[in-house]
Amino acid sequence: MSWKNLIFLFIVFSFASCGEIIETDLNFKDSSYVSSFTTSDPQFDKYKRAFEEDYYVETGQVISTEAIHINLKDKVDDKNSYVGICIIWPGGRDIIIKEAYWKTLSEFSRKAIVYHELGHCALGRTHDNSLDEDGRATSIMNQYLIAGSQFYSYYEQYIRELFTEF
Ligand SMILES: [Zn+2]
Repeated sequence: MSWKNLIFLFIVFSFASCGEIIETDLNFKDSSYVSSFTTSDPQFDKYKRAFEEDYYVETGQVISTEAIHINLKDKVDDKNSYVGICIIWPGGRDIIIKEAYWKTLSEFSRKAIVYHELGHCALGRTHDNSLDEDGRATSIMNQYLIAGSQFYSYYEQYIRELFTEF
């Protein structure tokens, strides 16, 4: 395969994995809300630890994501048009990621989704759809999922923005 074809494929896949709306926004519930989960799926532990470590590196402060349960589920409240959702209620916080979608994602796209949802659930951030002069999303809190390749290429900028610029 020629370099030209490889670059073309790279571009196609980059665009294929972005433009997906993650969710409409933070999902607040009242105290009558009952979570379907009492634990966090262990496959998300590595992303939670990485988030805590990145937070410490950027801010010098400690953050714990221990109480935030992250699980896979294909339907929430009969809605299925989401990629990930952060649910906040007086008793806790849940992150639910769409299982059918998760299975199709690269490692960095997975990390981008978990970091985005933790941005809501652990930091209380809302969406930020700012773009730079090249049209690139400047925040992982963009409402549209950032391609894993883009998250990887601009990792330091995204992490700094996530933890310090809001
Ligand atoms: Zn979001």
